[in-house]
This record gives sequence, C-alpha cells and structure tokens, in this order.
Amino acid sequence: MTDTWGGYRSRLVETLRQQGIRDLAVLRAVGETPRHLFVPEAFRNRAYDDSALPIGHGQTISQPSTQAAYLEALQLQGPERVLEIGTGSGYQTALLSFLVDTVVSIERIGVLADQARAALSRAGVKNVSVVVADGTLGWRPQAPYDAILVAAASPDIPGPLVEQLAEGGRLVLPLDTGEGQQLVRVRKGPGGPTTDVIGPANFVPLLGRHGFSEDE
Ligand code: SAH
Repeated sequence: MTDTWGGYRSRLVETLRQQGIRDLAVLRAVGETPRHLFVPEAFRNRAYDDSALPIGHGQTISQPSTQAAYLEALQLQGPERVLEIGTGSGYQTALLSFLVDTVVSIERIGVLADQARAALSRAGVKNVSVVVADGTLGWRPQAPYDAILVAAASPDIPGPLVEQLAEGGRLVLPLDTGEGQQLVRVRKGPGGPTTDVIGPANFVPLLGRHGFSEDE
C-alpha cells in the first residue's frame, strides 16, 4: 500500500479480525478499498474508524464491521453476478467489486447515485453499474443473480428479489418486524427458499413498492 491512508486501513482490518471476521477475501477487500473517497470531506479523518458516518440525504455509510459480517454471510466465491440494493456512498459496492465479477447496484436517490459513481471511478472500480430505481423491484435486465444484498431494512422479503435469485443463490437483508431488526439470509435451494437468521441489525428503512411506504 503506497498511499498515506494505508496504515489506517491496516488498523481497520486488524479491528475486523479481532471482531471475528475470518473471510480472507473480505479482509483483503477492506485492506484495499479507499474508504476515505466514499465519506464526505468533513468526516475524512474518521474514514477508517469502525463507525457509521452521515453521507447526506438522511442516509449513512454503514459501520465497516457490519458490512464485513454482511459480506461474509453471502459466502462469495468470485465468479458471481451480484445485485446490491441501496448504493449509498458506494463503499460497500466497491468492496463487492473486489470480491466478484459483476456488480449491479441500485439507489433510489439520484444525487447519491451520482456521488457514488464518481467515488467508484476515483477508486478505479470498473465492474460495477449503478442504477437509479426502486430496488424492491430488483433489476430484471441482468437477472438472475448469484447473490443479492439489501443495505436497508424491509418490513418483509420483497418477492421480486427471491424471483431474481439464481438457483443456489443467497439473499441477505435486514428485516424490520417492528420489534428490532434482524439480518436474515434466504437460500434458493432445489426444494424452495429457506431462511436463517444471522443476527441483530441496524439499517435505514428500505422505501419502495415492496418495502416501507415512501411517505412514512
Ligand atoms: N451500503 C451503503 C449504505 C447504504 S444506506 C454504503 O456503504 O454507503 C441505504 C441506502 O439505501 C440509502 O442510500 C437509501 O437511499 C437506499 N434505499 C432505500 N430504499 C431503497 C430502494 N427501494 N431502492 C434503492 N435504494 C434504496
């Protein structure tokens, strides 16, 4: 690592390791991804803290340890096509771009999508397309997906996302049942989808047709 932020990134990787992240590819992605390019100027000095930070429009870039645990849960191998819902700053999109072949990322707020595209391009990321749309509908043009991750909490599992999963695919999303959020993983097996709970979660709401209503 030659840039001045390298030492901070190594420390963040160490923190994640201590928190139990074991997937070497995920740790390597965190070690290589310039998070400072994805946070607003004003928070740049905290870019490599293990904390969530505001990115404007009422949204946040999630805590790195949360994102790493999330990526670990997707059990990515490399040659996959992945759909991400909730681009936000684009940081998690950049981590994904290190881990798999193709990433499609959907964001409902146009300004955030523009900023994320600019940051991804500065970070030299090429295998990602950012789309402005309602992610609760998925993105049919490039379906099916080997993995889908949703970075915002939903009242239930949006049907189109399960439909657009490939056979054997995994969908990870925070469910907000009204009594706290739980991160859940859906696997699309030969006998139909099965669901398991990964642990507690804390995400902004997923707003859209199959999420929370946009005027709530
Ligand atoms: N992982 C992101 C943080 C995501 S915050 C990062 O690393 O920065 C969640 C994002 O989901 C917000 O940007 C919000 O605008 C977006 N979002 C909420 N509902 C959505 C929907 N239906 N479709 C697409 N994006 C949505």
